[in-house]
Amino acid sequence: MALTIGVDIGGTKVAAGVVDEDGRIVEHLLRPTPAENPDQVAHTIADAILELAKSREIEAVGLGAAGFVDETRSVVRFAPNLAWREEPLQKKVSDLVGLPVVVENDANAMAWGEARFGAGRGESHVVCVTVGTGIGGGIVLDGLLYRGRWGMGAELGHMQTVPDGRLCGCGNVGCWEQYASGSALVEEARRMARTDPERAATLLEIAGGTPDRIEGNEVTEAARQGDPVALAAFSWIARWIGQGLADLAAVLDPGCFILGGGVSNASDVWIDQARESFARSLTGRGHRPLADIRLAELGASAGLVGAADLARRR
Ligand SMILES: [Zn+2]
Repeated sequence: MALTIGVDIGGTKVAAGVVDEDGRIVEHLLRPTPAENPDQVAHTIADAILELAKSREIEAVGLGAAGFVDETRSVVRFAPNLAWREEPLQKKVSDLVGLPVVVENDANAMAWGEARFGAGRGESHVVCVTVGTGIGGGIVLDGLLYRGRWGMGAELGHMQTVPDGRLCGCGNVGCWEQYASGSALVEEARRMARTDPERAATLLEIAGGTPDRIEGNEVTEAARQGDPVALAAFSWIARWIGQGLADLAAVLDPGCFILGGGVSNASDVWIDQARESFARSLTGRGHRPLADIRLAELGASAGLVGAADLARRR
């Protein structure tokens, strides 16, 4: 069976694994990312690949990189969390390992992994939305990963949803991720805890008494204990998530949405509200099937598995 290697390159660690044709990880390893130095990053990736390729025949390598990857799948134009600017990652790594290499945006790789082997198995039209600190995503249409003309497609978190809205890290205002992400959840919970501390008693107790100490885990724990402010913060992002999914359905009409990322770990608290908000906001509702909203199944390995499979299809 033909084996490929998938590598998921994050801001703090590099995860590499040998993956078979069924998306199973045969062997894997983790290395810290030397984030400040692009050449060291390339060497770290190459060392991990060579280590894994020692005992097996490897067909190709897929790199999932957190950044804007060009349409030839070889250059990382820009990465927010690594020192990559116009980085020729494909060439650097393939020169070091002597194997065919493709570079993919990490969210695209993740979406492909989930669509092929995870929650989207058997679906041809899938939109994957990663709800974490920000919002990332990937789109599979007609069974193919959609990258856009320049490789920059599916930056779902930066749809400018609210006119004159909150300032986003990308420089624009009103981006979806400012209202529907883990950061939005925390910001909303802190704001409400400041204005109405009595109502947020449980949440504040969990957070050590200070609104500024409230983080995502505290909001989740408090919500599960019935804290009204924590629940309201989740309702707030759930409404925005559902509304954003309805916008995406208006354009893309997928068979299913797959939700991943840190905030989806607390989905028991909010997913029903997101589904309701989606159903309420969907254009043509009542006259079309409702796309399924599912949770991601592959967890942290989705990007690695997806990158490995995309390398096989290069
Ligand atoms: Zn933005």
